[in-house]
Amino acid sequence: MFTFPKRLNLALTPTPLQYLTRVSAELGVNLWVKRDDLTGSTLSGNKVRKLEFVLAEAIEQGCNSIVTCGGLQSNHCRATALLGAQLGLKVALVLRGEEAGAADGNLLLDHLAGADIQMYPVREYRDSLGQLLNRAADKLKQQGCQPFVIPTGASDGIGIWGYIAAARELEADFSQHRIVPSHIVSATGSGGTQAGLTLGAHLLGWSTKVLGMAVCDDEAYFKAKVRSDMRDWYDRYQHMLSDSVDVEQCRIHVNDHYIGPGYAKAEHDVFETIAWLARTEGLVLDPVYTGKAFHGLVEEIKKGAMAGATDIVFVHTGGIFGVFPQRDQFDF
Ligand SMILES: *Cc1c(COP(=O)(O)O)cnc(C)c1O
Repeated sequence: MFTFPKRLNLALTPTPLQYLTRVSAELGVNLWVKRDDLTGSTLSGNKVRKLEFVLAEAIEQGCNSIVTCGGLQSNHCRATALLGAQLGLKVALVLRGEEAGAADGNLLLDHLAGADIQMYPVREYRDSLGQLLNRAADKLKQQGCQPFVIPTGASDGIGIWGYIAAARELEADFSQHRIVPSHIVSATGSGGTQAGLTLGAHLLGWSTKVLGMAVCDDEAYFKAKVRSDMRDWYDRYQHMLSDSVDVEQCRIHVNDHYIGPGYAKAEHDVFETIAWLARTEGLVLDPVYTGKAFHGLVEEIKKGAMAGATDIVFVHTGGIFGVFPQRDQFDF
């Protein structure tokens, strides 16, 4: 039905689909977790799936260095920094925010991976990200490198192949466990994971609802972002698609009620949910993405908003290193 473009083998896949026995019983639902936090140890999370396609494209274009961007504790930047080291590509990171004190979490790993790190005040980053990326790329060119620029979260028409591939993997999981899930739920931050899963579900003819739990921007923003990633995908790859695919037909579902105070900022109840899941199922979430999204899902279930659900699959997109910089927010 579709053939994949060039891809590097970087993620440890297939990842397990795991049933949450005690949480399902407590909430009165069938809740499964796709363990994409296990795509690697330091390379953990969803970004590795996207980078399999994006870095393949970079290498195909003859590039030997990467420029990308994100928050100070970006999982995407950490995965890119480590993969760059693994593949022998130089990596320059443009980060939003300034380091206070010793580098922790993902930022510590960025330093260890030898990335060239530039940090900018939030306002400057927000107002002139394009220029900052160009400046980083120019600097690499002056050093004789050939840079490839990856957008935030590797969410574009190339990166979303990662979660189209993950949808195919999920199809095998579903048949192995003999389930037909009514919902697939994940955190949405730059939209690529949701775009890939939504498009994958569409290409595979599923009736399953793919729901993105917004962690930063609102529903209108993510609906537009997910749609534009899909259009970018279609424009790039329509020549490879055997069936005609209408990306305008895909329904995009976003819940933006659990963003809380903002990106990487969570209310206390999110930290409580993280601690509850860790002690109930041995599963560790983070306060930036997965904890916020999972907390929202649990609240929706408790409110009865998921009534009629058969099996619900939560995609654990990783993010463990985001726990450590926010250690003070937990109480035990
Ligand atoms: C980046 C990230 C997300 C969000 O995925 P997007 O494709 O950017 O929407 C979710 N969870 C974790 C842990 C992430 O690092």
